[in-house]
This record gives sequence, structure tokens and C-alpha cells, in this order.
Amino acid sequence: MTEVFPAKTPTYLKTTTGQDFPVNRVFCVGRNYAAHAREMGANPDRDPPFFFTKWAETVLNSAPMDHLETPYPPQTASYHHEVELVVAIGRMGFEIPVDGAEDHIWGYATGLDMTRRDLQGVAKKMGRPWDTGKNVENSCPTGRLQPLAGHGHIHAGAISLQVNGETRQTGDIADMIWSVPEVIADLSKFYTLQAGDLIFTGTPAGVGPVQRGDVITCSIEGLPGLRVRIGA
Ligand code: MN
Repeated sequence: MTEVFPAKTPTYLKTTTGQDFPVNRVFCVGRNYAAHAREMGANPDRDPPFFFTKWAETVLNSAPMDHLETPYPPQTASYHHEVELVVAIGRMGFEIPVDGAEDHIWGYATGLDMTRRDLQGVAKKMGRPWDTGKNVENSCPTGRLQPLAGHGHIHAGAISLQVNGETRQTGDIADMIWSVPEVIADLSKFYTLQAGDLIFTGTPAGVGPVQRGDVITCSIEGLPGLRVRIGA
């Protein structure tokens, strides 16, 4: 094979065991906490979950974790934080039943689904795709990925986000409208899930804008935290 140009290096997530997890695709769940659905002006009913996607390369997890920085992106005046539980898929599956869904999980991490909220708002109003609002370069800073082995599944626990030390988002994993197994089961009706896929499972209430120079800290009970600075 003669490459026209060198193929890109895959995006890797650093794990707590020192391994590197190759990221395949990024799926995100919209409105999965009732209080956040309400703050976005949506009905928090238990409608089927809906999904959007981001490129694998939006995931940002470069060492050292204490100095993660994500640039402030172009074409927005309202770059919003969304802290989320990230599920890493380790085994392929299609039409996965809810009661077998956890068997497909490799591990969990704390992540950010950073969003150009102004562009997403325009897209919603015009009935257009969300891509420029959501699929933003470097928009998914993610903490170290913790394997299931030795830690177990995450069904509940506090999830929170601070900006410059001030708490902005709080919630509990147990308050998801659609649980992680239900999300995996539903998503796998549409796609054959593959090892390396990540699922961002939705954000609790309290989303808001960040400014250049802000420092975001995220925590989910039982997982490594995430600290990220918003660059220039
Ligand atoms: Mn989100």
C-alpha cells in the first residue's frame, strides 16, 4: 500500500491502568435528565432517547491530565459546559437486550460535551442539523477511563461541575431518564456498537457559558475527576 498521505493516528483515551483505549466513534444522548430538559425548554417526558454524534477526534485526553486545555472555538459567543458520564464500549453488539447491555461496557469516565449553544439554538429553531453546535473540534475533554474490572458498574452517585471553583451543575447518575443499559439497548437498534465507541449519556441541570481562561472541574462519584482550562 502506498498512502497518498500518512493516515491519522487514532484518538486514544488514557486509562487508569496505564493502557490506551482507541476511540472509535462518539455517540451522545440528548436531554437525559429531567431538570436539564426543563431548563432547555423541552418536555421531560420519557420519550425515546435521541442521539447525535461527534468525531472521535473531538475527544481530548492528552497527558498530563492536570494541564488539559481546550481552545475556545470559533463562531460562538456562548460555549457551554455539559458534564456527562461517559460509557466506553468494549464488545460489539447489535439489538442488545437491556438485561445484557452491561456486558458490552469496558469502563467509565467523566467527560464534557462542550457545545456552541448559540449555533445549536439556531439549528433547533430552523429545524437544521446540530453538527456545528455539537460536533466541535476539541469539544470532548475526558478524564482517565476507568475499567470495569475491579471497580464495577456505575448506577448512582453525585455528578457535578464547577467553573473557577463555583458549582454550576449538580445531579445524580440515578436521575437519568434513560439508564445506561436502556441507552445501549436503544442505540444498538440503530447501529452495530463496536469496541472503542463512547457514549456520552447526557448532562444534569445547570449548563452555562464559559470564558477564555476559565477552569472547569468535573466529578462523578467513583471515577477520576477532570480539570480543563479554556484556552484562547
Ligand atoms: Mn450533552
